[in-house]
Amino acid sequence: MTKHIFVTGGVVSSLGKGLTSASIGMVLERRGLSVRMQKLDPYINVDPGTMSPYQHGEVYVLDDGSETDLDLGHYERFTNSPLTRDSNYTTGQIYLSVIEKERRGEFLGKTVQVIPHITNEIKSVIHKLAGDDVDVVITEIGGTVGDIESQPFLEAIRQFSLDVGKENCLYIHLTLVPYLKAAAELKTKPTQHSVGQMRQIGIQPDILICRCERSISREDREKIALFCNVPLEAVIEEKDKDFSIYEVPLSLVDNGLDELIVKKLHLHAETLDLDIWRDLLHRLRNPKHEISIAVVGKYAEHVDAYKSIYEAIDHAGMHHQAQIRIGRIHSEAIEREGPERLLAGYDGILCPGGFGERGIEGKVEAIRFARERGIPFFGICLGMQCAVIEFGRNVVGLVNAHSTEFNKDTPHPVICLLNEQKEITRKGGTMRLGAHPCKLDPSSTSAACYGEELISARHRHRYEFNNVYRQQFAANGVVFAGLSPDESLVEIVEIPEHPWFVAVQFHPEFKSKPTCAHPLFAGFVGAAIERHSMKSDRSRETEPASESIEG
Ligand code: GLN
Repeated sequence: MTKHIFVTGGVVSSLGKGLTSASIGMVLERRGLSVRMQKLDPYINVDPGTMSPYQHGEVYVLDDGSETDLDLGHYERFTNSPLTRDSNYTTGQIYLSVIEKERRGEFLGKTVQVIPHITNEIKSVIHKLAGDDVDVVITEIGGTVGDIESQPFLEAIRQFSLDVGKENCLYIHLTLVPYLKAAAELKTKPTQHSVGQMRQIGIQPDILICRCERSISREDREKIALFCNVPLEAVIEEKDKDFSIYEVPLSLVDNGLDELIVKKLHLHAETLDLDIWRDLLHRLRNPKHEISIAVVGKYAEHVDAYKSIYEAIDHAGMHHQAQIRIGRIHSEAIEREGPERLLAGYDGILCPGGFGERGIEGKVEAIRFARERGIPFFGICLGMQCAVIEFGRNVVGLVNAHSTEFNKDTPHPVICLLNEQKEITRKGGTMRLGAHPCKLDPSSTSAACYGEELISARHRHRYEFNNVYRQQFAANGVVFAGLSPDESLVEIVEIPEHPWFVAVQFHPEFKSKPTCAHPLFAGFVGAAIERHSMKSDRSRETEPASESIEG
């Protein structure tokens, strides 16, 4: 029988519930268990696809085309749990489904209510992930205990243990134990209150994971255990990790979490093997190179907006044992100050995806700078479209070339709406989404990176390269290194004359893992390392030899 772990959060948001859930999943997998991950989000939007990255961070796209919460990115990076649209539900989806059932008359005239209809719907989406081949389903409940919108989810997971048996469920509550400078001590009261709220709903957490800046003394753990009604061993410290998020699983293991879960759920688990994970941290701690990469986007100040991009760069760094300083550059600042001031000195430039006109000209400027200076360049989705605009304007000579997303009347619509998109007006799940195959030119940089000629990549866009311009671009030195199998869509453009210039219409960042960097990110960072070492060699050559100074 599949066992269920529910992860809730208390006191404040942003405690890293997603990361903690992913870490638990990873550790259980490393103990030989088959795990499925799921996130239930209490907001009313049907999915985050229509939400601003300022509000919600990046939209994480799965192979099946679902647009999901960014925590699913953590799940994929940490675990091998296959993710589908069943891995992320929102209040909006739950209500939509119940209302559609009501419209079809499925409730036989009964009054439709939060309990039992909404809670039943929630329980049914949790059950969807269970199965003969699944040992553990980890369901993370978004939001913070005490939020009005979380209530039906908490009620549903309370009922869940009545349905499947208490022995098959485990409630893990992530909470904050703040350090109060004025009193020079850690405070356990917020945790006590938060667990108090859980108990009011009828859930007694089995395990408390306590986020803290400073180590929690045994005395404080005893206090938390007593007031929160859990055994001492179930008060697990999760201290802030300044160095890397990939330390989190190791610290949870050091504090006995995996053993406790295995014991409480009576799981038949193997002994833990975290060697690859330790190796990864070793590589991170012992860099052989130091380089810098500029990410030029319009949400530069908001780390979550390009979460998977930053992670994928880090993975490539681990792959090459390189420490990478990421410069988050505002594309609008480039419009004001010029690329030289903001980008000179970087070993690689990356333009990520995005929507809307703001900052586009800054991206185009940044790409021109990378192309003309021979700086490794990686364009992703909108970044690829901007690379096409730049090349069209400045190399092919197409005056005012643009994407019709930003200028409907451009004389040269080098990027235009996909045919299948022309009639679509509804937002939400209507873009070209999810995994599509892509055929690579065997002599391209991309094929060399992948080591394969047919790949699958995830998409999220409405616009594409306008095939009318293919010949002109090719005549000016662009190679269409990746095409859809029927050759109707351009998926990758490269400039072979340039040291490393690859721009892709898809989102490779969603398929990078710390244990297996994405081939294109690895290739890009490799090129940046090469450029950096060439730069250092050159500056060494131009330096006067020490004898001559002394002489
Ligand atoms: N706005 C562009 C499009 O819809 C690019 C999308 C993206 O970068 N994800 O095609």
